[in-house]
Amino acid sequence: MTIKALPDHLINQISAGEVVERPSSVVKELVENSLDAGAHRVKVILEQGGKRAIRVVDDGAGMRRDELALSLHRHATSKIASLEDLQRVVTMGFRGEALPSMASVSRLDLASKHAEATHGWSIKVRRGEISDPEPSAIHSGTRVDVQDLFYNVPARRKFLRGDRTEFNHVDLLMRRFALARFDVGFELEHNGKSTSVLTPAISEAEQDRRIDRVMGREFLEHSIRINQQRGEIGVHGWVAEPRYNRARADRQFFFVNGRAVRDRVISHAVRKAFQDVIFHGRHPAFVLFMELPPEGVDVNVHPQKLEVRFRDARSVHDFLFSALHHALADAGSGAPRPGAGLLDPGPVAVDVYPPTQVGMAMPVRDQLSAYSRLLGPSSVSSSRLGGSDNATVDPGQGPQGEVPPLGFALAQLHGVYILSQNTEGLVMTDMHAAHERITYEQLKSRYGEEGIKSQRLLVPVSIKLSETEADLAEAQKDALKNLGLVLDRSGPETVLLREVPSLLAHSDAARLLQDVLSDIASLGESQRVEEESNEILSTMACHGSVRANRQLTLPEMNALLRAMERTERSGHCNHGRPTWVQLDMPMLDRLFLRGR
Ligand code: ADP
Ligand code: MG
Repeated sequence: MTIKALPDHLINQISAGEVVERPSSVVKELVENSLDAGAHRVKVILEQGGKRAIRVVDDGAGMRRDELALSLHRHATSKIASLEDLQRVVTMGFRGEALPSMASVSRLDLASKHAEATHGWSIKVRRGEISDPEPSAIHSGTRVDVQDLFYNVPARRKFLRGDRTEFNHVDLLMRRFALARFDVGFELEHNGKSTSVLTPAISEAEQDRRIDRVMGREFLEHSIRINQQRGEIGVHGWVAEPRYNRARADRQFFFVNGRAVRDRVISHAVRKAFQDVIFHGRHPAFVLFMELPPEGVDVNVHPQKLEVRFRDARSVHDFLFSALHHALADAGSGAPRPGAGLLDPGPVAVDVYPPTQVGMAMPVRDQLSAYSRLLGPSSVSSSRLGGSDNATVDPGQGPQGEVPPLGFALAQLHGVYILSQNTEGLVMTDMHAAHERITYEQLKSRYGEEGIKSQRLLVPVSIKLSETEADLAEAQKDALKNLGLVLDRSGPETVLLREVPSLLAHSDAARLLQDVLSDIASLGESQRVEEESNEILSTMACHGSVRANRQLTLPEMNALLRAMERTERSGHCNHGRPTWVQLDMPMLDRLFLRGR
């Protein structure tokens, strides 16, 4: 075969193979263009899940007559002009390949009126041919019509799914945009029916309403607002407290500089922050925005721009982990560690939503606001700081005779709940869950102090890895040894595992090693051994905890309450269930319709 340069139309079709996968990827590129053009309102209209027709209309800056044809040329962009620009991209687009790619696999019409032009213009692309511009009646912004997607690429058209499925992809995408850009109004219409209309959300109340619409009321009611900045990197948004969790990871939205991304570093940090407070196998929910200087992220690493690469992945990871960890520790703990602000250099600002409703099923935020009032700085005494289990202090007494946060025990209910009285009212504590959390934290700190013990395998296990993994395993032998994994290289693609962490002696060693290696490859460290050990400690804690139906004496109950106040994150048992609930006096009054 002789070498030939490919015609433009074919080059565009090849590129379309990467950029345009289905209707939602077309919508993604078009809406991103609208946002880059400064639109305040974007409307998306679909027919047959977008397979028949996609129209995106915006009120952005528009294009001049001669820019219309240019926008359809490959690598023609108004957004970057140099390599330096590429290194600090602030727009959603930058490659100038979306419009030509789409035009090569559909029938595309473009109409636009530039803000300063007297009237608008339109052009069409049919089979790779761009028509001459004609005057158009459009009175502002831009309208793009993409019809019969993949009409000329039957092999790809076959891969499109049913209308409903394709529509659902677009719907999810529009939710992401709605979260990424509160300041923009979004509308979605399918087969002539409007399916969602979101007006721009500027005030906090409007933003909450948008969160409610996109994420659901339950999420909103159970979420904590977080907002933290360290140097040039910041994260803010909403995180659901652990008791609101999901079977699938379908309520997780993460944005980096306004761009929705999926990323290993980020998911690792999130998983690590939630590992102790969420039921195993359940997924947390969050909407989080991370902002950092554009030089700190490479956005040019994925054809559909769904992934990014952090220049300093380590510090992004640690920052995110500590922000979430603190937010959860503060929110989940009945007794926020006294003096936390003194010990931690960067406390996370945690705003708890104002309570709104009445009833028995109280969200934790009500309890939290009750507690934050109760635990105002003045009532926090540093004498409770000493984390040591001091049996010398009378468990029934708070310092200086104050009422401790979880109050004094009154009675035990059906052998399951401890009832206690504090200044706010009544506290009900699930004694099994509480004891489990305490035991777990104790086991964990004991395990942490002693370091990871490894156990020699009777018969070393030969594990098959890729050559890269095996190289990494060899190079990181010492780091792995510190994790309790002792091994030798035994071939180009095999290692011989001789020792494993004793707690994990019965787990699948090959899978553990591979997971650890892939963490080390992307993060330079791994939490797997710790996570999996914690899982086992948690099971041990569960078995070692007081069972229901055991009668406790009042001093025993008080001792349990005091131990909970000293235990980090005692607000949740290690299965993510709450350990205690506060019924304050106003709530009790409301229950009895008693005005005060
Ligand atoms: P990119 O977004 O990477 O620049 P595209 O192929 O998506 O590449 O768009 C090419 C150019 O067309 C953009 O740089 C922009 O100047 C112009 N353009 C596309 N869509 C719009 C729009 N909705 N409003 C104004 N200009 C647009
Ligand atoms: Mg673009």
